[in-house]
Amino acid sequence: MGEWSDFFEDFPEHNPANYVGDRFAPQEAKRLREQEALYHEQQRRLNSEIFGLIRDSFLKSEHKKKLATMVSVERCVQCGEMKMYLYQLDNYFFRCECDKCGIHGKGKTKEAALTAALTFAESQKQKLNAIMVSVEYCVQCGEMKMNVYQFHENYFSCECDECGIYGEGETKESALDLAESRIGEGFDWREKDESDI
Ligand SMILES: [Zn+2]
Ligand SMILES: [Zn+2]
Repeated sequence: MGEWSDFFEDFPEHNPANYVGDRFAPQEAKRLREQEALYHEQQRRLNSEIFGLIRDSFLKSEHKKKLATMVSVERCVQCGEMKMYLYQLDNYFFRCECDKCGIHGKGKTKEAALTAALTFAESQKQKLNAIMVSVEYCVQCGEMKMNVYQFHENYFSCECDECGIYGEGETKESALDLAESRIGEGFDWREKDESDI
Protein backbone atom coordinates (compact mmCIF):
# COMPACT_ATOMS: atom_id res chain seq x y z
CA MET A 1 0.00 0.00 0.00
CA GLY A 2 2.74 2.42 1.10
CA GLU A 3 4.85 1.45 -1.89
CA TRP A 4 2.05 2.27 -4.26
CA SER A 5 1.34 5.68 -2.75
CA ASP A 6 5.06 6.56 -2.91
CA PHE A 7 5.09 5.46 -6.50
CA PHE A 8 2.01 7.55 -7.35
CA GLU A 9 3.56 10.58 -5.65
CA ASP A 10 6.57 10.34 -7.96
CA PHE A 11 4.54 9.43 -11.02
CA PRO A 12 1.10 11.01 -10.58
CA GLU A 13 0.32 10.36 -14.24
CA HIS A 14 0.29 6.61 -13.46
CA ASN A 15 -2.35 7.02 -10.77
CA PRO A 16 -5.80 6.17 -12.20
CA ALA A 17 -7.35 8.35 -9.48
CA ASN A 18 -5.85 11.42 -11.19
CA TYR A 19 -7.82 10.91 -14.38
CA VAL A 20 -11.17 12.26 -15.46
CA GLY A 21 -12.20 9.85 -18.19
CA ASP A 22 -9.03 9.52 -20.32
CA ARG A 23 -7.75 12.94 -19.37
CA PHE A 24 -4.97 13.47 -16.81
CA ALA A 25 -6.50 16.10 -14.48
CA PRO A 26 -5.50 15.53 -10.84
CA GLN A 27 -7.16 18.72 -9.50
CA GLU A 28 -10.40 18.13 -11.30
CA ALA A 29 -10.47 14.45 -10.31
CA LYS A 30 -9.94 15.46 -6.68
CA ARG A 31 -12.74 18.02 -6.88
CA LEU A 32 -15.10 15.47 -8.46
CA ARG A 33 -14.30 12.97 -5.70
CA GLU A 34 -15.04 15.61 -3.06
CA GLN A 35 -18.28 16.56 -4.79
CA GLU A 36 -19.34 12.94 -4.87
CA ALA A 37 -18.58 12.48 -1.18
CA LEU A 38 -20.57 15.63 -0.42
CA TYR A 39 -23.44 14.37 -2.53
CA HIS A 40 -23.53 11.07 -0.64
CA GLU A 41 -23.39 12.89 2.67
CA GLN A 42 -26.30 15.11 1.61
CA GLN A 43 -28.31 12.08 0.46
CA ARG A 44 -27.70 10.37 3.78
CA ARG A 45 -28.82 13.47 5.69
CA LEU A 46 -31.88 13.88 3.47
CA ASN A 47 -32.90 10.25 4.03
CA SER A 48 -32.66 10.57 7.77
CA GLU A 49 -34.72 13.78 7.63
CA ILE A 50 -37.41 11.98 5.64
CA PHE A 51 -37.50 9.14 8.15
CA GLY A 52 -37.83 11.74 10.89
CA LEU A 53 -40.83 13.28 9.16
CA ILE A 54 -42.50 9.90 8.72
CA ARG A 55 -42.03 9.19 12.41
CA ASP A 56 -43.42 12.62 13.39
CA SER A 57 -46.55 12.18 11.32
CA PHE A 58 -47.02 8.70 12.79
CA LEU A 59 -46.76 10.07 16.33
CA LYS A 60 -49.16 12.87 15.46
CA SER A 61 -51.74 10.37 14.21
CA GLU A 62 -51.30 8.33 17.40
CA HIS A 63 -51.97 11.50 19.37
CA LYS A 64 -55.10 12.18 17.30
CA LYS A 65 -56.43 8.73 18.15
CA LYS A 66 -56.26 9.61 21.82
CA LEU A 67 -58.36 12.73 21.19
CA ALA A 68 -61.04 10.73 19.39
CA THR A 69 -64.56 10.54 20.79
CA MET A 70 -66.32 7.24 21.29
CA VAL A 71 -69.51 7.06 19.25
CA SER A 72 -70.94 3.65 19.97
CA VAL A 73 -70.23 0.05 20.93
CA GLU A 74 -71.07 -2.57 18.30
CA ARG A 75 -71.08 -6.33 17.99
CA CYS A 76 -67.62 -7.42 16.84
CA VAL A 77 -67.60 -8.76 13.29
CA GLN A 78 -65.09 -11.43 14.27
CA CYS A 79 -65.65 -12.65 17.83
CA GLY A 80 -69.28 -11.56 18.16
CA GLU A 81 -68.77 -9.83 21.51
CA MET A 82 -70.35 -6.45 22.16
CA LYS A 83 -66.91 -4.99 22.45
CA MET A 84 -66.33 -3.26 19.16
CA TYR A 85 -65.74 0.35 20.16
CA LEU A 86 -66.34 2.91 17.47
CA TYR A 87 -64.52 6.21 17.59
CA GLN A 88 -64.99 9.31 15.55
CA LEU A 89 -61.67 10.95 14.82
CA ASP A 90 -63.00 14.00 13.00
CA ASN A 91 -66.02 14.93 10.89
CA TYR A 92 -65.42 12.32 8.24
CA PHE A 93 -63.29 9.69 9.81
CA PHE A 94 -64.14 6.67 11.94
CA ARG A 95 -62.13 3.98 13.62
CA CYS A 96 -63.30 0.82 15.35
CA GLU A 97 -61.42 -1.50 17.62
CA CYS A 98 -62.50 -4.68 19.40
CA ASP A 99 -61.46 -4.90 23.01
CA LYS A 100 -61.84 -8.66 23.00
CA CYS A 101 -60.05 -9.96 19.89
CA GLY A 102 -58.17 -6.83 18.85
CA ILE A 103 -59.27 -6.44 15.24
CA HIS A 104 -59.64 -2.87 14.03
CA GLY A 105 -60.37 -0.78 10.99
CA LYS A 106 -60.93 2.76 9.82
CA GLY A 107 -63.07 4.43 7.21
CA LYS A 108 -64.99 7.50 6.16
CA THR A 109 -68.22 6.10 7.62
CA LYS A 110 -69.06 3.83 10.54
CA GLU A 111 -69.89 1.03 8.10
CA ALA A 112 -66.63 1.46 6.17
CA ALA A 113 -64.67 1.20 9.42
CA LEU A 114 -66.46 -2.02 10.37
CA THR A 115 -65.93 -3.48 6.88
CA ALA A 116 -62.25 -2.63 7.11
CA ALA A 117 -62.10 -4.46 10.45
CA LEU A 118 -63.61 -7.52 8.76
CA THR A 119 -61.00 -7.34 5.99
CA PHE A 120 -58.34 -7.13 8.66
CA ALA A 121 -59.80 -10.18 10.45
CA GLU A 122 -59.71 -12.14 7.19
CA SER A 123 -56.12 -11.22 6.48
CA GLN A 124 -55.25 -12.33 10.03
CA LYS A 125 -56.92 -15.68 9.35
CA GLN A 126 -55.05 -16.05 6.04
CA LYS A 127 -51.84 -15.38 7.87
CA LEU A 128 -52.42 -18.47 9.99
CA ASN A 129 -52.00 -20.50 6.81
CA ALA A 130 -48.88 -18.65 5.79
CA ILE A 131 -45.33 -19.50 6.71
CA MET A 132 -43.15 -16.78 8.15
CA VAL A 133 -40.08 -16.82 5.96
CA SER A 134 -37.88 -14.23 7.57
CA VAL A 135 -37.72 -11.01 9.54
CA GLU A 136 -35.93 -8.14 7.81
CA TYR A 137 -34.93 -4.57 8.48
CA CYS A 138 -37.93 -2.42 7.60
CA VAL A 139 -37.49 -0.39 4.40
CA GLN A 140 -39.27 2.55 6.05
CA CYS A 141 -38.59 2.75 9.79
CA GLY A 142 -35.37 0.73 9.76
CA GLU A 143 -36.46 -1.51 12.64
CA MET A 144 -35.84 -5.27 12.47
CA LYS A 145 -39.61 -5.80 12.35
CA MET A 146 -40.45 -6.50 8.72
CA ASN A 147 -42.08 -9.93 8.76
CA VAL A 148 -42.03 -11.78 5.45
CA TYR A 149 -44.74 -14.39 4.86
CA GLN A 150 -45.15 -16.96 2.14
CA PHE A 151 -48.73 -17.91 1.31
CA HIS A 152 -48.01 -20.28 -1.55
CA GLU A 153 -45.27 -20.98 -4.06
CA ASN A 154 -45.42 -17.57 -5.71
CA TYR A 155 -47.17 -15.29 -3.29
CA PHE A 156 -45.25 -13.44 -0.63
CA SER A 157 -46.14 -10.57 1.62
CA CYS A 158 -44.21 -8.44 4.05
CA GLU A 159 -45.47 -6.30 6.90
CA CYS A 160 -43.69 -4.11 9.39
CA ASP A 161 -44.88 -4.55 12.97
CA GLU A 162 -43.48 -1.15 13.87
CA CYS A 163 -44.62 1.38 11.25
CA GLY A 164 -47.18 -0.77 9.39
CA ILE A 165 -45.81 -0.48 5.85
CA TYR A 166 -46.49 -3.55 3.70
CA GLY A 167 -46.19 -5.09 0.29
CA GLU A 168 -46.86 -8.27 -1.60
CA GLY A 169 -45.54 -9.96 -4.69
CA GLU A 170 -44.50 -13.15 -6.44
CA THR A 171 -41.17 -13.24 -4.67
CA LYS A 172 -39.88 -12.03 -1.34
CA GLU A 173 -37.85 -9.37 -3.16
CA SER A 174 -40.81 -8.03 -5.13
CA ALA A 175 -42.91 -7.83 -1.94
CA LEU A 176 -40.14 -5.82 -0.27
CA ASP A 177 -39.74 -3.66 -3.40
CA LEU A 178 -43.43 -2.79 -3.37
CA ALA A 179 -43.23 -1.86 0.31
CA GLU A 180 -40.20 0.31 -0.48
CA SER A 181 -42.11 2.12 -3.24
CA ARG A 182 -44.73 3.06 -0.63
CA ILE A 183 -42.36 4.77 1.80
CA GLY A 184 -43.88 7.91 3.26
CA GLU A 185 -47.34 7.29 1.83
CA GLY A 186 -48.90 6.22 5.08
CA PHE A 187 -49.59 2.59 4.18
CA ASP A 188 -50.46 0.54 7.26
CA TRP A 189 -51.50 -3.12 6.99
CA ARG A 190 -53.34 -2.82 10.31
CA GLU A 191 -55.56 -0.15 8.83
CA LYS A 192 -56.21 -1.32 5.29
CA ASP A 193 -59.40 0.37 4.15
CA GLU A 194 -61.53 -0.03 1.05
CA SER A 195 -59.24 2.17 -1.02
CA ASP A 196 -56.32 -0.29 -0.60
CA ILE A 197 -58.22 -3.34 -1.73
ZN1 LIG B 1 -63.70 -9.06 18.51
ZN1 LIG C 1 -41.30 -0.17 9.64
